[in-house]
Amino acid sequence: AANTSSELISAAEAHSAHNYHPLPVVVATAEGAWMTDVEGKRYLDMLAGYSALNFGHGNRRLIDAAKAQLERVTLTSRAFHHDRFAAFCTELAELCGMEMVLPMNTGAEAVETAVKTARKWGYKVKGVPEGRAKIVVAADNFHGRTTTIISFSTDPEARADFGPYTPGFQVVPYGDIEALDAAVDADTVAVLLEPIQGEAGVLVPPPGYLAEVRRITAERDTLFIADEIQSGLGRTGRTFACEHEDVVPDMYILGKALGGGVVPVSAVVSSAAVLGVFQPGEHGSTFGGNPLACAVALEVVAMLRTGEFQARATELGDHLHQELRRFESAGAVTAIRGRGLWAGVDIAFDHGTGRQVSQALMERGVLVKDTHGQTIRIAPPLVISKDDLDWGLGHLREVLGAR
Ligand code: PLP
Repeated sequence: AANTSSELISAAEAHSAHNYHPLPVVVATAEGAWMTDVEGKRYLDMLAGYSALNFGHGNRRLIDAAKAQLERVTLTSRAFHHDRFAAFCTELAELCGMEMVLPMNTGAEAVETAVKTARKWGYKVKGVPEGRAKIVVAADNFHGRTTTIISFSTDPEARADFGPYTPGFQVVPYGDIEALDAAVDADTVAVLLEPIQGEAGVLVPPPGYLAEVRRITAERDTLFIADEIQSGLGRTGRTFACEHEDVVPDMYILGKALGGGVVPVSAVVSSAAVLGVFQPGEHGSTFGGNPLACAVALEVVAMLRTGEFQARATELGDHLHQELRRFESAGAVTAIRGRGLWAGVDIAFDHGTGRQVSQALMERGVLVKDTHGQTIRIAPPLVISKDDLDWGLGHLREVLGAR
């Protein structure tokens, strides 16, 4: 049997599709912001499962909630009711200031659900002629990996060779309000956006953009759908990234941290007028809204209710961005973006690629992830201590300075 990291990596390479290029670290255990590999080496997790681990690894409250539910009932399917479902939907809707929840499992499924909801709402409520529904999306978006979702991706890697593509989407440049204004027509059922584009490299739109999107969509009877799968649930210092612009969309798409890094939980959250378009049999998922998922997500919602994680993201995030700006003046980085405990850092070409910097950090026991060549993404669990954050940033400073 294989047990060293390199043996495990070789075995994985031989028997799994190469649809990822992971850093060569094999994690065996984790707690809080730290992970330990099979050789016992410790790593500071500064990625947090792309924000799925906002509350840290092995969070006691979440593990206890999961364990308690494991002993009771884990799956009923939606053929029957179960006793955690009502509380989950009620509490999540309330956290979002909305009325109804449609639970799914992964982010991509929730985005698909949002697309179907918007189209059906368009035909049944707005009165768009059959087959004409259009959804306006942004260039450089990342909403998931299904065939419909990659149909409106602008990333050749995500799209190439996976056609034919689903029609019904129009792409406009992100942050360009005139282009969006021109694209929203009588057949437009929704504008679907990430309030901060995560996979694109943590791109924050220009101030006022989201508020303008809200104004245009409201004026033209079009749904504003905010994909807060990565930006939501505390990461930016608010429960939702839209809050930074005092914007309330018609629909939130949530995932990642909703399952606390324990189970996959996603959801579409909206008004009764919008989610009310579904009739029995028109949409669903065997695992969506299962008792285990509901129990964990209920605890996530309760933790977000306290505001302590949002406050931590604000406080540590201010510190993170202040520290990163010092690297910028040293010439090692060409741009820093982000909000709260979330940053995209573009590495200067003469200081290596994002992958090389990530690899060098890994060797020092700090885990981040590169994206789009020169960018690294920093998104530690919100429970990270300031000392640990500084320790990780110290290594980043040395890695960038040493090149
Ligand atoms: N939407 C956004 C904004 C994301 O960041 C992601 C994942 O990175 C997704 C959707 C897709 O989520 P999943 O990987 O759970 O399908």
